[in-house]
Amino acid sequence: MSAQSVAGRVDRRTAELSANLDGLLARIEAARGAAGRAPGSVRLLPVTKFFPAADVEILYGLGQREFGESREQEATAKVAELGALADIRWHMIGRLQRNKARQVARWAHTVHSVDSERLATALDGAASAALDAGERAEPLRVLLQVSLDSDPERGGLAQADVGALADLIASSRGLRLAGLMAIPPLGAESDRSFARLATLHTMLLADHPEATELSAGMSGDLESAIAYGSTVVRVGTALMGARPITSA
Ligand SMILES: *Cc1c(COP(=O)(O)O)cnc(C)c1O
Repeated sequence: MSAQSVAGRVDRRTAELSANLDGLLARIEAARGAAGRAPGSVRLLPVTKFFPAADVEILYGLGQREFGESREQEATAKVAELGALADIRWHMIGRLQRNKARQVARWAHTVHSVDSERLATALDGAASAALDAGERAEPLRVLLQVSLDSDPERGGLAQADVGALADLIASSRGLRLAGLMAIPPLGAESDRSFARLATLHTMLLADHPEATELSAGMSGDLESAIAYGSTVVRVGTALMGARPITSA
């Protein structure tokens, strides 16, 4: 392809992402206002899974600094490609296997999907090693992903286990407890799910006042999540367009 047509394609994608971003930020701002919440209390986490590093670069140019990825291999490759971008903060939002902890602890600013003691322990070891090796400067921020139904297949910690895992993380060296994350069960009414999540968050904050982050809301339900206290919405489709595959 000629240099000119590559440049034209980049320009078109930049215009598209810029328009989507403006619309999305307006949507978030309207929901925040409608909920009577303070300016700046809800932020956008663009979810760039399945989209190329070039798109992340465009969004970075449009002022975004935080990016969410859900697959370790894809994310590790993108991070390597974009390593030179200053102040970029990567969030791991997808299910994570313990054997990927070492890799993720090298690049992740925050992991949203911690749902077991085994995973927390693996991440603590990995983040501590990364701190010792100078591969990271700060402990790894983690959110507990809670299950809002009783289906273990969909991931997430049982609600009854949140307190114990929060205590374990709060006392670890390599991790910093930052808050909660959830994905509403398929077919569930989002208001009910997010109301339940808000209750769990209030309970967590009583023991861990530092755990202020509430990661909730995606393209289809961010208004509801913001009404129930979300501090960060994870949005893919409404910003990037439809993903080539939607199974992750
Ligand atoms: C892909 C993904 C999102 C974004 O979903 P959209 O509906 O495309 O906005 C949010 N959270 C997680 C955990 C995801 O894997």
